[in-house]
Amino acid sequence: MPWTTTDYDPTDFANRRHIGPSPAEMADMLEVVGAKTLDALIDDTVPASIRQDTALDWPALSEAELLEHMRAIAAKNKPMVSMIGQGYFGTHTPPAIQRNVLENPAWYTAYTPYQPEIAQGRLEALLNFQTMVADLTGLPVANASLLDEATAAAEAMVMAQRASKSKSRVFFVDENCHPQTIAVVETRAEPLGIEVQVAASDSLEADAVFGALFQYPGTFGGLSDPSEQIAALHEHKAIAVVATDLLALTLLKEPGAMGADIAVGSAQRFGVPLGYGGPHAAFMSCRDALKRSLPGRIVGVSVDSHGQKAYRLSLQTREQHIRREKATSNVCTAQALLAVMASFYAVFYGPQGLRAIAERVHLRAARLATSLAAGGFAPQNETFFDTMTVEVGNKQSRIMAAAVARGINLRDVGADRIGISLDEVTTEAHLSAVCEAFGVALAPVTDLPAIPDDLLRSSDYLTHPIFHMNRAESEMMRYMRRLSDRDLALDRAMIPLGSCTMKLNAAVEMMPITWPEFGNLHPFAPADQAAGYAEMLEDLSAKLCEITGYDAMSLQPNSGAQGEYAGLLTIAAYHRANGEDRNICLIPVSAHGTNPASAQMAGMQVVVVKAQENGDIDLADFRAKAEAAGDKLAACMITYPSTHGVFEESVREVCDITHEFGGQVYLDGANLNAMVGLSKPGALGADVSHLNLHKTFCIPHGGGGPGMGPIGVKSHLAPHLPGHPETGGAAGPVSAAPYGSASILPISYAYIHLMGGEGITQATKVAILGANYIARRLEGDYGVLFKGKTGRVAHECILDTRPFAEAGVTVDDIAKRLMDNGFHAPTMSWPVAGTLMVEPTESETKAELDRFITAMQSIRAEIAEVESGKIAADDSPLHHAPHTMEDLVRDWDRPYSREQGCFPPGAFRVDKYWPPVNRVDNVAGDRNLICTCPPLEEYMDAAE
Ligand SMILES: *Cc1c(COP(=O)(O)O)cnc(C)c1O
Repeated sequence: MPWTTTDYDPTDFANRRHIGPSPAEMADMLEVVGAKTLDALIDDTVPASIRQDTALDWPALSEAELLEHMRAIAAKNKPMVSMIGQGYFGTHTPPAIQRNVLENPAWYTAYTPYQPEIAQGRLEALLNFQTMVADLTGLPVANASLLDEATAAAEAMVMAQRASKSKSRVFFVDENCHPQTIAVVETRAEPLGIEVQVAASDSLEADAVFGALFQYPGTFGGLSDPSEQIAALHEHKAIAVVATDLLALTLLKEPGAMGADIAVGSAQRFGVPLGYGGPHAAFMSCRDALKRSLPGRIVGVSVDSHGQKAYRLSLQTREQHIRREKATSNVCTAQALLAVMASFYAVFYGPQGLRAIAERVHLRAARLATSLAAGGFAPQNETFFDTMTVEVGNKQSRIMAAAVARGINLRDVGADRIGISLDEVTTEAHLSAVCEAFGVALAPVTDLPAIPDDLLRSSDYLTHPIFHMNRAESEMMRYMRRLSDRDLALDRAMIPLGSCTMKLNAAVEMMPITWPEFGNLHPFAPADQAAGYAEMLEDLSAKLCEITGYDAMSLQPNSGAQGEYAGLLTIAAYHRANGEDRNICLIPVSAHGTNPASAQMAGMQVVVVKAQENGDIDLADFRAKAEAAGDKLAACMITYPSTHGVFEESVREVCDITHEFGGQVYLDGANLNAMVGLSKPGALGADVSHLNLHKTFCIPHGGGGPGMGPIGVKSHLAPHLPGHPETGGAAGPVSAAPYGSASILPISYAYIHLMGGEGITQATKVAILGANYIARRLEGDYGVLFKGKTGRVAHECILDTRPFAEAGVTVDDIAKRLMDNGFHAPTMSWPVAGTLMVEPTESETKAELDRFITAMQSIRAEIAEVESGKIAADDSPLHHAPHTMEDLVRDWDRPYSREQGCFPPGAFRVDKYWPPVNRVDNVAGDRNLICTCPPLEEYMDAAE
């Protein structure tokens, strides 16, 4: 008998993977919010005046089809052995780190560790990173990563200007720095009125500059000791920055010992794949006296309420350096996941292992140099660590091609020179191949180094016991597991952080990024070896243009804030090209802190625009300030839907007013998860937006990075988008690599194709449904601030907790209590102090939303007990939250039960998440800043 088959297609669940609520659950949710259908809710929420009229239209692929498609693209990339160097080196990612960290959602789906009690694992890993950087550079304080080496150098320049007592506006840059570093520093300097002088280091006039950047080892390989220049700089109260290489520093005298004030560089070669340019963790370390102006996050050691050691982010309520118009930097998302990987690499190898790798690299380089010299190609640099530059006259292209024919890329240094860099993955066979390409014989093995004696390192490093663990993989695996178990990431519970869009990062989207065809490409590899990337980037740009209504995309900025900065530079260049001198930027008071910080970096003067009572932009104030700015108006920066989670109907008017006075509209696209498929920023009148691919487009947050913040622009701005020394373009670069953190772009690309145009639009609608569902269910228990005209919120909602202050319950208490319920807190006190901003995203099931609602209701009931005087605020579980196992086993003298303390509604019984520490003392940590690993005795504490 023939079968009657169901019409359920088991491969067609692509959309369901991303969309949490089932159709039946959605029906229930719609009933709660009082809408007949999903489309009716959307019509109610998103004003008709801003809706797009054509649907996004491209097909959805099944998981299997997507993987096949990604394989086909990957096959068009031809990764070769890279000996290009220039800041990017081959490295062997230990498989245990690849599998247990890079490919492990417990690590990659975590959020930035602002809530330290549920982030002790990654905070420890980042502290290890800081200790490693501080030790190797010989400077006492290091941060927990920056975006890339070139931007780190630019940050150091700005820090030097603030720290230096010199009146000069000149920053000296040694011509031995990487070309992309020089270019990014020049881009950053220009709008700030800093003059960059690029020259040989011995031509430095220390009395004429506020600071100088040296690179050691230099981009062409040579080693020169900048100690003399540094001493001269210090005599004139100027600051010395040294860009350096962590592997080289295992053998070389450290910058701290040369008197450097600041060291910067990239930790890429500590186990992080080349990835066609990123993501990689850059680092910065500095003298103790400069620590308060260090950009980026710094992990520090403090104590919890039982007096036990606990880690936290130091010196910042949120980000110390993003202080609106007083900002010194706009770094928000950094490179946490990659810093974690690099730190484990150092833990894996320890000082002996790292030194052994460095010695092998160096002696192989020495052997190659001898071989080349014997054949008439003596390197121009007599000293080196791993890199040599050879003059080859008119043979350059022939030798480069002969190397490529042998599967090796060399560096093209001008017309008649070739650069060769060795690294951890260089083998004898590679040396032979290079010798063949040059037509010389490979010399015998040598044990004679090419490092001058006075540049050899004499100090110890990585002496802390954490770098001396037993290196059995069992031990390493368990250490990584132990740390990730301390943390709460998306693999345990929803993370309803407003504005941060912590949605699913599907496994199928993540898989391609660790394929060698995406991971093992050098960013400056010849274009014909990266045809797969080119195809993918072109299609991704086209799709993002279609989604946003823009005409061109730059995929260079490697975070949202970098996108803002790049977008404003684009606007500035456009005005300049039109012969206009405009520098005022209007920004609503509710804007994300990075907005004014980026405007400041782009050399613009920030004018703050008021908000109305309901959170909307005050149009009258906006017009008045635009008028006052007149022909000085450069731009406005608005966020849409607004920071308050509402689709403001006045957005077109804001754009019109700005254009009327000759300004350009920057629309912060971080909230695009509420717009995709429904409304296009470009069609609303905006001229440029950044998109946070690590929010809307599924790149995982990584515990504070990586991210990508491409910018879309209208055609008139396209000629002014960021360029790059390697790929051309009129404007300067904002990132070290032409496509920023290229190797995570396959994630967004995969999401877009997995979902199809219809699926990606459905995701937006369900995100809006989820937020309205939570708002409706919690309304009454909590005030819901800011709604549109029809009483709807967009993709997030703001819960008011200020009324509880009178009873002595703070927003912090609620956030910490949520940990007991097994949740990460929503965004706290932003954009309004004393509130919680909840963004559920489309990926959470109704059951998970209900679990959160139950938790919030039970917290409200506990607050009521305090309000009614039944329990004192200081005795309540809210005050003691989060509860730990330590609480459970200590004497219990509290007026509520252990059961209530540790297992409030929402908490799982069997799968209970236990915060590893009690509430962390922020003040103690800042008063006594410890930002390298504390001594071993403290590791014996309960946290272990
Ligand atoms: C997240 C966010 C940013 C900054 O993005 P990063 O990638 O962290 O630099 C800017 N604006 C808004 C509204 C955001 O939510």
